[in-house]
Amino acid sequence: MSTLADQVAIVTGSGRGIGRAIAEALLQEGANIVISDINEELCQTTAAEINKQAGREAALAVPCNVTDGASVAKMVEAVMAKWSRIDILVNNAGITRDALFMRMSQEQWQAVIDTNLTSAFKVTQPVLKVMSKQRSGRIINIASTTGVHGNFGQVNYAAAKAGLIGFTKTIALEYASRNITSNAVAPGFIDTAMTQALGEEIISKVIEKIPLGRMGTPEDIARAVVFFAGPGAYVTGQVMEVNGGLYT
Ligand code: NDP
Repeated sequence: MSTLADQVAIVTGSGRGIGRAIAEALLQEGANIVISDINEELCQTTAAEINKQAGREAALAVPCNVTDGASVAKMVEAVMAKWSRIDILVNNAGITRDALFMRMSQEQWQAVIDTNLTSAFKVTQPVLKVMSKQRSGRIINIASTTGVHGNFGQVNYAAAKAGLIGFTKTIALEYASRNITSNAVAPGFIDTAMTQALGEEIISKVIEKIPLGRMGTPEDIARAVVFFAGPGAYVTGQVMEVNGGLYT
């Protein structure tokens, strides 16, 4: 029997990249999944492709902007109307707006704080109301090695992801008694549209610093999420870095 049979998982920002790989991996373990992304068309096409591959109607497309509380409320309503439960929430949607500190605009700062940190507050609160009634749940937040170690040109992103780690640990403490775990996965340098935008020269320089000698794949991150989502995970409030040995 699949480990996540009949469970319902929401993955934000799952139209593409790491979020899509996470959704596909959870589906392979038997879960029904909510493909949720700000890009409505991407949401629909990704869910349709996943359903075709899976040979079952396991993916539901629910467009959602995680910075907008009303949009989040609609998503939660749609999921409850379809499945009446939420077992797993992966807060994955995220953006970068890089600049060295002195050149960073307040818009760049705020956009990243809103999308990568405040979104976790807006999405997790209504989902935890459902999980609390169920007396079970798994929250998994996609942080970053940058949130643990810092990175040149990413003060907004580092602050948001470090905040997300503090959020993860506090939710773990407040909800353990309800059988709800909260953990974070901190990816290193993963091959997606986000990192492809950096260009070949920067990409090769970073790969030189990775002990395992390659960029990570979205599937590398998905495997860690499946571990935290599993029924037997006696683990909460933890951060797993998945980074090929960068920053050991
Ligand atoms: P991508 O940009 O490939 O995918 C992110 C998805 O989230 C996009 O479809 C994007 O839509 C969507 N999104 C953006 N803003 C919102 C929003 N407000 N509401 C809902 N969806 C939104 O990124 P990755 O897959 O690379 O990253 C996924 C997560 O992993 C992020 O949190 C990122 O910070 C984290 N991460 C990634 C690393 C990497 O090396 N790639 C390293 C460490 C962490 P659109 O394109 O329309 O903006």
